[in-house]
Parts: sequence; C-alpha cells; structure tokens
Amino acid sequence: MIEFKNVSKTYKTKKGVETKALNNINLKIGNVGLVFIVGKSGSGKSTMLNILGGLDNITSGELLINNQNISKFKNKEYDSYRNAYIGFIFQEFNILEEYSVYENIELALRLQNQKPQKDEVENLLNRLGLKDLKQRKPNELSGGQKQRVAIARALIKNPKIILADEPTGNLDQTNGKQIFDLLKEISKEKLVIVVSHDIEAANKYADRIIELKDGNIIKDTNPEIEEKEEKLNLKKSKLPFSYSIKLALKSLTIKPLKLLMTCILTAMALIFMGFTVNCLIFDKVDLMTNTMKENDQYVYTVNKTEYYGLYDQRTYELKEQDIKQIEKDTQSALNKAYMLNNNNSLLTFEFGTPEIEKPDYYMNEPAIIRFVEIIDDKVVGKLIGKLPETNQELVIHKYLAEYIIKYGVIDSENNLYKPKSIEDLVNSKHELKLGDNKVTISGVVDDDNSQFEEYKNGNPINNYDLRNYIQNDYIEPSCTVYVKGFTNVAKLNSNKREILTKMSITNIIDNENINPEEISTYNLNSITENKTIITKEGLKEVNKLSKNEVILSINDLKKLDPNYNQGLEDYSKENSTLSYNQIVETYTQNYLNTNSFKALKIKLKNIIKKQVKQIILL
Ligand code: ADP
Ligand code: MG
Repeated sequence: MIEFKNVSKTYKTKKGVETKALNNINLKIGNVGLVFIVGKSGSGKSTMLNILGGLDNITSGELLINNQNISKFKNKEYDSYRNAYIGFIFQEFNILEEYSVYENIELALRLQNQKPQKDEVENLLNRLGLKDLKQRKPNELSGGQKQRVAIARALIKNPKIILADEPTGNLDQTNGKQIFDLLKEISKEKLVIVVSHDIEAANKYADRIIELKDGNIIKDTNPEIEEKEEKLNLKKSKLPFSYSIKLALKSLTIKPLKLLMTCILTAMALIFMGFTVNCLIFDKVDLMTNTMKENDQYVYTVNKTEYYGLYDQRTYELKEQDIKQIEKDTQSALNKAYMLNNNNSLLTFEFGTPEIEKPDYYMNEPAIIRFVEIIDDKVVGKLIGKLPETNQELVIHKYLAEYIIKYGVIDSENNLYKPKSIEDLVNSKHELKLGDNKVTISGVVDDDNSQFEEYKNGNPINNYDLRNYIQNDYIEPSCTVYVKGFTNVAKLNSNKREILTKMSITNIIDNENINPEEISTYNLNSITENKTIITKEGLKEVNKLSKNEVILSINDLKKLDPNYNQGLEDYSKENSTLSYNQIVETYTQNYLNTNSFKALKIKLKNIIKKQVKQIILL
C-alpha cells in the first residue's frame, strides 16, 4: 500500500528559481488495480512517478510503502527497494539495442544478481506474445513489440508495482491499445500506475483516475479503493530481499537488558480468539516468559491474532475487556501502550535542523510513536533522572535525548532549546513543545549505546547491515516514551480527534505494521518445545537456548548467505533421488564446516554482538 502524507517536491534551478512540482499531496493507493495519473504537461505527473520509484527524493512529507517510510531511505536502500518493488516502463522503451529480446529480459535479472530461470523467461515471452521474436534485436521490432519487451523486463523481476510513464506515447493507436490491454491484465494482480495524456484510454481502462494540476490533486475518481486494499493487506506478502534480511537479523538478536522486547506471544494471542481461555496454551506462555526472563528480557507484548492457515493472519487491537482478562489470567497488572494514529504531527517534538551529509549515528530524526503509561517502576531500566510524577512529565530514551542535545528542540516559548548534557536536560525542567502539549523531561532511559560511540562524532556508517540494525533494533524502540496520565490529558487537549489508539499491553510492535514474516521469525528466539536442529555432528534435539546462542532457520540462512542458497540448489540437482529433508540435512551439515559459514558467523557477530552457535533449526 502506498501512502503520500503531505508530500511536496520543489525543484530548484541553479539560478535559484523554485518550482513546486508537487504541493502537499495526500493520497493512498491500494495493492492492485490500474491507476491513471493524468494532467497537463508540467502538472507533476512524472515527478510523482519518479519519487514513487525511488528515482527522486521528496522535499517534505512522508512517502510510505507498506508502512515503511521510504523518504528516509538512503541510496542503497533505494536500490533494493527499486529492485524488489518497482518495475519501470518508459515512453522510450529503455531496452538495449545490442541485445536480443531474450537477453534483454534476462539481463533485468542479472543486473540484480539473480540467476535467470529459463522457464520463467520463456513463460513470460509466451504470455506477452514475444515467443517467436526472442532471438531478434530491438531494431527488428515494431514500437509495440519493443514496449512489450520493456514490460517483460519489468515483469520478470516480479515487482509489486509497475510504473509506466507515457507508455504509449510513441505508439500508434492499435499498438497503444494492445499495451493498455496488457497493463489492464497485469493490474489484476499488481498495482499498475500509468501516467498518460490519453484521457480516452484512462476512461476506458482505469480503475481510478487521479488528475493533477500545478502539483495538486484536482480530481480523484475512486479514492474509496482504500477499503478494498486494507483487506488485501492482510494477505501474506513477500518482502523485498533487504527487508527480509533485516527481519532475519532481528530475530537473531538476543538483547539482554533491552527494555523493549520484540517478542510476540503468538501462542497467547491465540487464546483470545473468542475470548476463551485455554490452560494448555497458558503453559506455553509460562515457558516463553521463562525463556525471556533467562535472557533478561522482562517486557513483552501481547497481541490478539487470528489465524487463517499458517501464514494468513490478522492482528487486532486489544480491547479493555481483553486486557482485563489477561490481567486476571496472568495475575499481574500490566502497563498499557498507546500508539499514535496517523495524524501524528499532533504529538511530536520539533527539532533544530540537522545537517547530515552521510548517514551517521544520528541519521534518523526520532519520532515518538508509542506512549507507555507506567503503573510501577519496573518498566524502565537504567534511568537517569526520575520517573514521571505528573501528567506533563515524560521519560525518553537516550537516543532522543542525545538528538536533542545535538540539534536542539523547540520549547514552549517557540525557542530552540539546546541542553548541554542529559543531566542538564533532566534537571533544567525546561518546558518543551510536544504538539499542543507542554511537557518536561523527567528522566532518560540509558540504553547501552556505547558500541556506537565512534559514530557519534559524525563518522559515516557505511555498513548497510549495521545501519539497519541501528535503525530497527536501536532507534525504533527508542520511539517510546513513558508517561503518567499523559495519554488522558493529550486526548482531552487535542479536541481534534482521538490521536491515541489503545494498542497492546506494555510495549512494542505496532499492530498495523506487523508482517506475518516478522511474527514467524521473532518466534525463533524462544524455543518452547523440542526442535530438531542440524549441527556439525548431525541432527540433535534441543528445547532451550543458552544465553549466547542463536539459531538460524534454513530460510534465514538462504537469505543471509547466497552461497548457501546456491550450493543447496546445486546439491539438490546432483542428488535428485534424495528427499528434500535428506538434501537439506546433508548439505547443511557439510556447509557448517565451510569458510562460507565462518564468514557468515563473523558478519553476524559484528552485527548482533553475540556469538553465533552453529545450529540450524530445521
Ligand atoms: P509532467 O510529467 O506532468 O509533465 P513533471 O513532473 O515533469 O510534469 O514536472 C512538474 C514541474 O516540475 C514542471 O514545472 C517542471 O518544469 C518541473 N521540473 C520537473 N523536473 C525538474 C527538474 N529536474 N528541475 C527543475 N524543474 C523540474
Ligand atoms: Mg512527464
């Protein structure tokens, strides 16, 4: 799902003249369908397409793709986003003259280090009516055929979104019609966004027409498509490669003394379907809680999840009655966490303007997304200062505090306040502006971030994995603040609409952002029953992990080490008589002795600062 939030794009020429190509665009687009963007020349159509495709940056606002803010992406992230999500089709075809049709299509895969599968290419050639043309060079093709090659190139990567800028601009009517027919068909399973002058075609083919004028949306025929798409969102979706790695790494991270534990008690969640309580499953909860305690992880999240088969599932907000039930069943009082709704500008700090050239430790402006109402002092770990005593006081995480110290924050008098140190921030009781509210910082949670010390002076962080780790596993949890009674006050003051949604009990995991993949990988952290794992010595049963151990699933391994993936594939071809399990067992056992695995272990160790034991979950 695509969401533009107050997106503006301003171009500045060398002479300093500014053009506002997009002006405060707010727009949601679903996961499938054929969307036309129309408008006069210069109205901003191409700009809109280019920023969607990660070819251009936005000047302000947020651009969310499946709830990920891509406007914050760095170059490499843009690359993998483009690779995994986007297929482009341009007016001028963009195919390579010196290669044959077949090679042109294959090349699209090779360019992103994927091995082309012959039958996939052939299938696509058939589907697009290019079968008999596959050996031809582009100069032996008509315009319509060339454009179909371009479409094949876009499709072979199996992207989620196809972006086409005037795809029929260079074609006659008959060829143009064929291309639109094709795009219409593709749009049954993908989102296809077409920029076109051709109003007639738009009326004929589009599921939705968005008209731009001077950078503004002046017409939108079908904004209610949102409704449809939310249901689609619940389906299992394959994540882009970079994202899966991130998730895999997340699951490998055992975080002692980490306040916010990213574990979902899926088992527990199951119970609340229909609000019946099942003792057997509570045993599992016990087990999980113990595992967490052993790892010094004492904060957990409960969600309500409904399963449709193994992967298709839906997570709900907890209602007051759910919380009461859980409190009763676990015999403990639970802190409640509140999520910010989309309209989050109502409850954010404003900071001084950073000058960031390269991504360093302070690359992300911290946004507050969760408010945890504390009910006792157990939740907050190492604290500098005090817990909140009034509904105006906040406890923030160290990252946010350091960001304030570095760039300053706007105070209640609209001046930039720049404390000298954390102690200064906590002791000064300086009144800050948080949306419409005035707050003071009573304390700071001291996460141990000494490992990032060397980057705090602006040293660039070039390691992509490390950057991801910092963003997702360190900064993300620091988007939580701890409050006492504040959520009630904030609600009353806003008099706009409820800006806080009740979400889950104590901490973490945004309901709306949960991906099924995430759920399954997280759960790898806590083994609650016997699992068969592969070791150098062969198969072994385990039911517990010690502190420094992590396990990798075969899937994680495939994602993390392309050599493994490739090797496994080759091995299975050579041993086609063996069963899949036999292949995986034998190959993996051997793999554990290779340098490739050694290298992977070192890589993982650098990222997660833990020793990786050579066990693989089967
Ligand atoms: P469309 O595709 O609807 O014809 P564009 O998105 O290409 O419109 O352009 C929107 C506005 O932004 C136009 O005024 C155009 O001149 C300006 N613009 C687009 N790209 C640039 C650029 N790279 N530098 C300066 N101005 C640009
Ligand atoms: Mg254009």
